[in-house]
Amino acid sequence: MKTQRLRYGIVISIMFIALSAIPSPAAASENVTGSYKMAAIPDLVEKASAYDGARIEVVGEVVGDKLARPDGVWLTVLAGGTAIGVFASAGDVSGISAFGSYASSGDRVRVQGVFHRACPDHGGDLDLHAETVTKLADGRAAPHAFAPARVFWAVALCLSGTTLAALWRLRERRRKIG
Ligand SMILES: [Zn+2]
Repeated sequence: MKTQRLRYGIVISIMFIALSAIPSPAAASENVTGSYKMAAIPDLVEKASAYDGARIEVVGEVVGDKLARPDGVWLTVLAGGTAIGVFASAGDVSGISAFGSYASSGDRVRVQGVFHRACPDHGGDLDLHAETVTKLADGRAAPHAFAPARVFWAVALCLSGTTLAALWRLRERRRKIG
């Protein structure tokens, strides 16, 4: 009886292993939103030839400045320490207001468009021609980049001052008692 139950258990385990080994179509399509292929920006730059001419989706932070051109706008999108130039229509980027710098974080965006390893329209540069630009999160202006450090030191100094005062008072009291 016991061995039979054990055997059933083994058969069920094997069935689970076999089922999980079959790639499910749902899992495979998770990386594709519409007809765009999701890519990490560093990967896109590194394997530019493989992605050339493909419809790509990237997520990153808008940094630097918005450069207006007669036929569109240039944005710089940064992710994983690598930035790429994104060429978009002025209307598509009108909602983007925060541009990241050393002291602030830019808006987080999802860009879907056509990737060019060497764009014929833009002097043979690597770029992404946006078809949609979606803001995912607002950036944050941080004019006082060292504020957290300043707050830490203020609290630390205040605490050490209080501690010293308390110790001094304790010693004075002990001296009086003794
Ligand atoms: Zn271009």
